[in-house]
Amino acid sequence: MGNDVAENLSGVKQRISDAALRSGRSADAAQLLVVSKTWPAEKVADVVAAGHLAFGENRIQEGEDKIPQLPDNLQWHLIGHLQRNKVRKALPLFQTIHSIDSLKLARYTSNIAAELSKKPDIYLQVDLAGEESKNGYEPDQVRRDLDDLLALEHVSIVGLMCIPPMASKPEDARPWFVKLRELRDDLEARAGRSLPGLSMGMSGDFEVAIEEGSTIVRVGSAIFGSRT
Ligand SMILES: *Cc1c(COP(=O)(O)O)cnc(C)c1O
Repeated sequence: MGNDVAENLSGVKQRISDAALRSGRSADAAQLLVVSKTWPAEKVADVVAAGHLAFGENRIQEGEDKIPQLPDNLQWHLIGHLQRNKVRKALPLFQTIHSIDSLKLARYTSNIAAELSKKPDIYLQVDLAGEESKNGYEPDQVRRDLDDLLALEHVSIVGLMCIPPMASKPEDARPWFVKLRELRDDLEARAGRSLPGLSMGMSGDFEVAIEEGSTIVRVGSAIFGSRT
């Protein structure tokens, strides 16, 4: 990996389109979300200068500091855990939230969004492996809550997100990506409507995720270098 973020960005974009094409998808089937957590606004500005507009942050506080320092035509996605008491701060900053993991939180977010005249795009974060340490919906609970989630008026449920268990090689993540896609297919069949979004794939495994249907990959260290 080079130390020039523009060079890293174009390398990652190339790998994304290559992975899509070799799995029979269109070159632009998966969007790139550049994960800028821990990196200062000046570093993020280098990626903006290279023509990229969509960024992910995992903490509200960091977003509050960083987002106002950058151009206002950027798209910001919250990828980290969202606490109820931060929803009111999050909504003016982030247009998309990848980490809704209960009906209660979704309902509360919809209510606050109504007050603020917002309608964020929402991915439901699913904990496929039943890991104690991870946030996320249990798959059967998503099935049970689906109708209520889809009825919420001020959030737009666009799909599912997962963070697979730590793995030593990219192939180890493949079964989890398959599971997320299958859960999505099942939910679509139950709801009779499409849930197009699959937020899956990070620096270490985004090509495998795209081969399994990812529509948005969340990539930080392959662009910025490793976080210290
Ligand atoms: C940090 C983070 C990423 C990016 O991880 P990299 O390995 O640096 O690409 C993706 N998704 C979530 C939820 C993260 O917290």
